[in-house]
Amino acid sequence: MRILPKSDTSPSTKQADLKKRPRRLRRSESIRALVRETVVRPEDLIYPLFVVPDNRPHVEIQSMPGVFHNRVREAVEESLRAYDAGIRAVLLFGLPESKDAIGSASWDPSGPVQSAIEAIKNKIPQMCVMADVCLCEYTDHGHCGVIDSQDVDNDATLPLLAKQAVSFAQAGADFVAPSDMMDGRVAAIRDALDEASMSEVGIMAYSAKFASGFYGPFREAAESTPQFGDRRTYQMDPANVREALREMELDVEEGADMIMVKPALAYLDVIRAARENFDLPVAAYNVSGEYAMVKAERDPDLDQARRRRSDHHVLRRGLRY
Ligand SMILES: [Zn+2]
Repeated sequence: MRILPKSDTSPSTKQADLKKRPRRLRRSESIRALVRETVVRPEDLIYPLFVVPDNRPHVEIQSMPGVFHNRVREAVEESLRAYDAGIRAVLLFGLPESKDAIGSASWDPSGPVQSAIEAIKNKIPQMCVMADVCLCEYTDHGHCGVIDSQDVDNDATLPLLAKQAVSFAQAGADFVAPSDMMDGRVAAIRDALDEASMSEVGIMAYSAKFASGFYGPFREAAESTPQFGDRRTYQMDPANVREALREMELDVEEGADMIMVKPALAYLDVIRAARENFDLPVAAYNVSGEYAMVKAERDPDLDQARRRRSDHHVLRRGLRY
């Protein structure tokens, strides 16, 4: 390659002797589309929806502009809109009418999530309806399991998670998605589903769910902030990748059909490790704080939709390799 002499200030007088010019592949949108290595389709995405009891208002969640507390009818309308846009899966989170120490509202067959599952499946049978399985939205203390001496009792929590999962499956969920991070929950849920003759219902396990400040807006949305302590005795230490692989391995052994990494963008190395080590579908949860960060940008020059798209491309790339 020849370099233009420093004294030459005219940009067009001499052409560098370059045989290889990667920019040829970027000259037009048609060419860029032709050679694009990663494509994000609406079908690749799962749309999370918050469902509240019918006596509550349909309100926007302050920390997540554009995200609402939906009553069952709005959850159905939103699912229809999503389906028309090409989305083929929704993931439901529920806010019950009342909370108690063991989260018993979560297996009420007429609870908001159960009712929404039924209503969405009735209206859009083709939609894959997933339901988040955890107790934190349903317990008065806000932790993901039963409390014993200021800590979550792992083994006492398992049958409750199983009960909740079976209840969602009976309402018509295609997948249940345990997000609690208890040891052995996937096996407990798999056994309970099979015993209830619902072996066709799948499990998408939040396998590597890291304790994170990125969940703040979600807690406001799900009204699930812990009343004491934090979740670090069950959610993972953000410093650990090998431990994340161990968690995934256990979930795979216990019968998970998909594994998940959460949060997503700050854990691309974990997503990559998941893809390289396991053959199951890997999901990446782009969480509330990641969404809120994009939405919080007030810079008029920042194209939020474009930034969301580029975030999704990054994630899709990690999931493919
Ligand atoms: Zn939880």
